[in-house]
This record gives sequence, structure tokens and C-alpha cells, in this order.
Amino acid sequence: MTALTIELVPAFDDNYIFLAYDREDGVAAVVDPGDEAPVLKRLEALGLTLTHIFNTHHHFDHTGANLALKDRFGLTIAGPKNEADKIPGIDIELGEGDRFTFGSHEAQIFDVPGHTAGHIGWWFERDEALFIGDTLFALGCGRLFEGTPAQMWDAMSRLRQLPPQTKVYCAHEYTMGNAAFAVTVEPGNQDLLNRVEDIKKMRADNIPTVPTTIGLEAATNPFMRPDSPNLQQTIGLDGGDLVAIFAETRTRKDQF
Ligand code: ZN
Ligand code: FE
Repeated sequence: MTALTIELVPAFDDNYIFLAYDREDGVAAVVDPGDEAPVLKRLEALGLTLTHIFNTHHHFDHTGANLALKDRFGLTIAGPKNEADKIPGIDIELGEGDRFTFGSHEAQIFDVPGHTAGHIGWWFERDEALFIGDTLFALGCGRLFEGTPAQMWDAMSRLRQLPPQTKVYCAHEYTMGNAAFAVTVEPGNQDLLNRVEDIKKMRADNIPTVPTTIGLEAATNPFMRPDSPNLQQTIGLDGGDLVAIFAETRTRKDQF
């Protein structure tokens, strides 16, 4: 099997759209296309034709170009079953436990509600890649627009059990802002402090901080670390319930 090639396509102010393709298999997908112009430009440079759109959730910055790209390429759109009515042009509805075949590659689908009620994640196990939309960010997690802290913590706790080398393709470059918050809730985490220095250098050189990895997030992302004694002490919930600690962390970030 040849590896899936994955590229970032920056869009809007801080979105990342992803191209995932395998020329040998003759498949090419765009993940969460909010805007068609940067996608078309990159496809032309690569000499690629799209066969699929993969959506993670219904927000416009992730689905805005669905219909235009479907019109142009006659492609297949696969997205979340639990909010299928909000996904323009959806052909294939996917939810927890489903597997999606993409050429010689395969994704496992997770339901990760919280940011939206039907949000899904796409895990290509053999390719060690996770498309996670606005659920998990580098040093952050999505805002809870349609779900509860318990749901989002459930998603985080499952994601952190994936293999640590798994590359995490998050849909926004929010990392600097997330880093500024993270150090306020877990100031004693040396791995976090080191990472923040790395991130500052990367952003100063305009280098994307995406993809990140599960291992890096498990070690430094406060939303994956409600069991950290340092975080618990900092927010005053020492030894508390993990959902309550996660919820308090999320609330503090909303107010940060
Ligand atoms: Zn969103
Ligand atoms: Fe978004």
C-alpha cells in the first residue's frame, strides 16, 4: 500500500482544509472545504481531480464549498449521519463504528459530539492520520456549541487512547491563543512550557502547528489532562471529578 499523501490548504483567516490523496488508487478527497478557491488552485498545481469530500461537521467554514465542488467534479460527499440534514449534498452518512473505504485505505469513524451534536472524526489507522475538525485542536478543544462537557470529555478521553504517533489534522490554527491559556492552568508542566517555546518560533516563521500528534496533545493539552494534579490544583478542583475539571477548564478558556 502506498501512503496517503496529506496536504494543508490554508483558507479564510485561520482554517486548514486538507487534501488527502493516493494517485495509484486514483482517489483524492478534500476534508472540510469551507472555500473552493484555495482548493482549486492547489488541485490545479498538483494536476489532481477530486473524487470525495469528507466532512466532520456542519459549520459553514467546513462545508461552504461542498456544492460547488460537487458540481465541478461529480464527487461523493461523506459526512456525519447525526447532522446529515445540515451537510449540503451529502451522499454517504457515517457514524460511530462505521468504516469507510477510500482506495486501498480505510477510515474508522468516531462520533465526537460536543462542538456540534453530530460531529465525527475520521481515523485512518494504517496511515496514522486523524481528521478531527473542530473537536481537538493543538493545545485546545472546540467550543461547546451543541453539546455538554461530559460529551466532549468522553471524546477527548477516547482520542488520547489512539496511538501516540497518530497525526492530528485539526481544522484551525488556534495554537498561539490556546498556548497562552494552557500555561495559565498547568504552569508546572515542563513539556507544555517547552512546547510553547517551539510554537512561538514556528508561528514567528509562519510555519503551521498542524498536524500535531496524539502523544504531544496527551502530554500538553489541558483539555486532555483533567487528571493532572498540577492542573487540578491550579483551578482549585483538587481530586475532583474529571468531567467537572474538564468543564471548569473549558469555562475558563471561554472567559480567557
Ligand atoms: Zn466548527
Ligand atoms: Fe471551524
